[in-house]
This record gives sequence, structure tokens and C-alpha cells, in this order.
Amino acid sequence: MGNYKIAVIKGDGIGPEIVDEAIKVLDALSSIYDISFEYEELLMGGIAYDITGDPLPQETISKSLNSDAVLFGAIGGEKWDSLPREKRPESGLLRFRKELGVYANLRPAVVYDELVNASTLKPEVVEGVDLMVVRELIGGIYFGEPKGREATRAYNTMVYSVEEIERIARRAFEIAQKRRKKVCSVDKANVLDVSQLWRDVVNEISKEYPDVELSHMYVDNAAMQLIRDPKQFDVILTGNIFGDILSDEASMLSGSIGLLPSASIGDKVGIYEPIHGSAPDIAGQGIANPIATIASASMMLKYALGEVEAANKIDEAIKQALKDGYRTKDLADFDAKEICSTNEMGSIIANYVVKS
Ligand code: NAD
Repeated sequence: MGNYKIAVIKGDGIGPEIVDEAIKVLDALSSIYDISFEYEELLMGGIAYDITGDPLPQETISKSLNSDAVLFGAIGGEKWDSLPREKRPESGLLRFRKELGVYANLRPAVVYDELVNASTLKPEVVEGVDLMVVRELIGGIYFGEPKGREATRAYNTMVYSVEEIERIARRAFEIAQKRRKKVCSVDKANVLDVSQLWRDVVNEISKEYPDVELSHMYVDNAAMQLIRDPKQFDVILTGNIFGDILSDEASMLSGSIGLLPSASIGDKVGIYEPIHGSAPDIAGQGIANPIATIASASMMLKYALGEVEAANKIDEAIKQALKDGYRTKDLADFDAKEICSTNEMGSIIANYVVKS
């Protein structure tokens, strides 16, 4: 019996619409398994700024840290773009990740059989793709010191400590153990000292996981291989900036941004959110695809709560809905039998969860 405390941050734009559908699906699970969820809604992003003057109120941090997991929608929008940087919704999110110490960003890229034609790549290249990018999230060049700008030059520093590499590497190997047991570590060790350290440490850590096969690849080659033959990858382990770029590239394998979930985890509480933003262009119209957020709830069950069977149930329900031809508007051109609203898609998936 699990009773879980979930911090819910709906945020801005389509955030509230898509998070509501994920909650609907979680509640459907409660009706068939001995698990229950207690939700606490917290403010963040533009809406938090409008109400409290701060895009990340202290209460949101403390209550999130006091929960089992954070289910997150999306934040941001043009309305807040002209605010000073520290008041903007995006600054709130960066600060939030740092406060929660989520050093590992997990981004699966899965191509659903029914949507192979939605990718810009040939069906035979993407069919069956199922990979996971494990990106270091709170170190590397985005945070390294010194950094600065002078009149005629500017600089950032890519720095990683042994400890930072060890903890993200362990995460990647542990995840690979539950998948196809392959880790490809991506770096630029032919040029960068920091990458040479990265490679040495990953080699050392790999000795703790003899059942997982480790390979190394330079980042320029990895960018090419992801397009040439993405099926060769199981887990891709990489640093912050390389992971930022490669995970966006990998996300395009699957066709729609509305399908892809993510998890950001550390040693405290994890954040589970779709990879897309708040989509202000379609907010309030009931046409957003809720699948990325529902799949993020599935990752939450798996990685934060250890409810693997329930997570698999959600994944199967999503597949079934797509197989039966249900599509939100973003996927209307790909073998749709019925176009549904955000709300309808959530209900269809929740029904499959209960009935399958
Ligand atoms: P976006 O991801 O919000 O939207 C890009 C395009 O994809 C839009 O055409 C949108 O309609 C579409 N789209 C996104 N999610 C969709 C869904 N679930 N279903 C159907 N279509 C979907 O990116 P953007 O337009 O560059 O950014 C909008 C705002 O979101 C900005 O303020 C940005 O800073 C913010 N943002 C927030 C996050 C986050 O909260 N983690 C991430 C990225 C961007």
C-alpha cells in the first residue's frame, strides 16, 4: 500500500490543462491498485510572479522538498518576457532544479510503432527506437567559474569534479541495468581535459557494473550516429551542454514534442515534466497533447515511487490509445481514426488503464 504526497506545479499556458490529465490517469491507477495520491498544488512561473511577485516562492521549494515527487507542467510566456532576468519564470525553474539538487536529467526517446511516419526521418531508421539520454544537469559549462564578459572577449568554464561524474555515471549504469544493459558515454576527450577526466571516471565506475557494456563516443560522432542509426543506442550518458543538444536532437526522432516526458532526479525529490514548454499559442484551446505529461507521471511512478507495474500500465495505455487511432491535433495527419481534445485523450488513456 503506497500513499504518496505529490507536489503539483501546473504553471503557465497549457500547463494546467496537461497536468489535469496526468492526475486523471494517476487517479485511475488508484482505482485498480492499492496506491493513493495526495496532491498539493504549488505556485511557480508567471502565475507565481503575478500572485506573489516571485516566480519561485519559498513555500514552493520547502513543500516540494517535503513531498515524494514533483509533477510539473510548464512555465513561461510572452507576458513575462520583459521582466528583469531574475523575475522571469525560466529563472525560477533553473533555481528550482538547483534547490532540489536534481543532477540527472533523464530523457527517453521512444518511437511508437503507430507514429513512425510522424518522424522527419525514414520509417526504417526510426522504427523501434527506444533510447534514454542521461544528462548531467547542474554542473559543467553552464555553471562553471570563472565566467565573464569583457569589452573584447568573453569566457565560460567547463569544469567537472570526480564526484559529479561518479554520481551521474552510477545513475546511467543503474538505469541501463533495467534496460538493454548498454551505456554509451559521450564526450570530447580528443580535445578537452575535462572530457579526459570524464572518460577515466566513467571507466572506473563501469567496473562496479560488469553486466553493463560500456562504449565511448565523441560528441560530434554521436550527433551524426543519432540520425544515421539511432537504434544502436540504449543509454547515452553525457555532460550538461552535450546532453542539452543531443537530447533535443533525439527528441525529434519521435515526431511530436507533445509525446516526450522527462525526469530530473538527484538525491532528494525529483521533478517529472514534459520536455516541451507552455505553448502559449495553443493554451486554453483544449488541443494540447497531454501524452508527454502522462508519460512523465509514469516516470514518476517508476523512478520516485518504485511502482513499476503501475508505470508500465500507463505506458501500455498510451500505446493502446495510439494504436487505436486516437490523436490530438498535433498528430492529426498520422493515421488518425479520431481526433480528440486534451481532456478526451486523458480520459481515453485513463479508461485503458482501468480496463486493460
Ligand atoms: P513550446 O515547447 O512551448 O512550443 C513549441 C511548439 O510546440 C508550439 O507550436 C506549441 O504549440 C507546440 N507544442 C508544445 N507542447 C505541445 C503539446 N503538448 N501539444 C501540442 N503542441 C505542443 O516552446 P516555445 O514556444 O519556444 O516556448 C513557449 C514558452 O515556454 C516560453 O516562455 C519558454 O520559455 C517556455 N518554456 C518552458 C519550459 C518548461 O517549463 N520546462 C521548457 C521550454 C520552454
